[in-house]
Order: sequence, then C-alpha cells, then structure tokens
Amino acid sequence: MSKQKIIKLLIGTNNKGKLREIKNLLPKNIKIYSTSKFNLKSPTENGKTFKENSLIKSKYFSKKTGMICLADDSGLEIDLLNKEPGIYSARWGGKHGDFNKAIKRVYRDLNKRDKNWKNKKIKARFICALSMSDLNKKIACVLGKVEGQISNEPKGKNGFGYDPIFIPLNKKKTFGQMKPSQKYKLDHRYQAFKKIKKFL
Ligand code: IMP
Repeated sequence: MSKQKIIKLLIGTNNKGKLREIKNLLPKNIKIYSTSKFNLKSPTENGKTFKENSLIKSKYFSKKTGMICLADDSGLEIDLLNKEPGIYSARWGGKHGDFNKAIKRVYRDLNKRDKNWKNKKIKARFICALSMSDLNKKIACVLGKVEGQISNEPKGKNGFGYDPIFIPLNKKKTFGQMKPSQKYKLDHRYQAFKKIKKFL
C-alpha cells in the first residue's frame, strides 16, 4: 500500500520569525501556504500546555481552510522564574508583540527574585510543540527542546523574540548573535521537526 504524501501544507502561524524557520525546515517539494494569505486571525490559546495550544492552532487553521495544517506553540522556560514565561512567552510582549518589553520583564523579574542572579547560571530552555491536524483530527503532536542559560544582557540582532538573551548549552553566543543557519540546526523547532517529519 503506498503511503499518501503531503503535497501542500498550511503553516499555522502569524509570527513571521517562526514562519521563516518552519519554511526552512520543510522539504522543498511541499507547497507551503501561510495564514496571512487567508487573512486569518490566530485563535485564543487557552490550553494549559504547549502541546494543547499547538493543537488548538493546527485544528483551528485546518478547519478554516480545509488544508492540512502544521502549527507550533513555543516559548521560553526560566527555572528561577518557576518556568515563566512558558506558554505566556508571546503574551509577555503585550498586544503588539514587543519583544524588548518581554525581555525587560525577564530581567526585572530575575532582579526581583535574586539581586545576585548575574553571577549565577540561570538555567532556561526553549520548548516547541509541533502538531499537524487534518480538520479536527490530530495527525501528530511532538515536543522538542533546547537547554541553555540566560545571558546577563541582550546580545545580537538576529532571530526574533527572546533570541538575544538565550545562550544554548555549550555555546558562548546567544541565538541572537548566531547566523540563522547555525540556530536552525540547534533549536527547539528543529528538535521537534526531526520527530514530526516522518508524518510528512
Ligand atoms: P506562540 O507559540 O505563538 O504562543 O509564541 C511563542 C513565543 O515564544 C514567541 O512569540 C517568542 O516570544 C517566543 N519564542 C518561541 N520560539 C522562539 C525562538 O526560537 N526564539 C526566540 N523566541 C522564541
């Protein structure tokens, strides 16, 4: 029996940084559509976990378009902040997705927790749940992560979101200082993608 291959796929995100990264990971023979083409707003993410929120998005966008949809839900967990911002990572940027604001809040909260945090290793990780849905049916849902620590100050202008403050394990540079080609092969989205690609 021949396995049905996906030839077109909707990427369920309105975040340009994520869209760029996901496009780069996908095989070139799949025709990719983005939600902006359909002028769709994002659904309310009222799940309690990255996986739940990812499935809310992939099912919602699939039902709106009739296409198979790949969606991610991701974020940064900081141990000293009890794993915040976590699933609220985007929301810390406020209505307009201002990442400078989100980063300031991280530093403000770290200072509140421990005045001496800059002399310590502040463990953190990026998590990514990737899911694929066909209308209301889940095809797959996987989790990927990358461990690391918080930089004492923001460094680098590449990437998006919290990239300037995250140093992956065993590296000296933040994601914001790395070339995109270096970040893609290390990050949480790539780890999740390796698990989901057998479903494509
Ligand atoms: P959501 O998955 O759309 O709810 O948003 C996830 C949020 O987590 C993004 O808006 C970023 O703030 C953050 N985030 C997720 N992945 C990355 C990344 O690769 N680099 C930097 N920030 C990220």
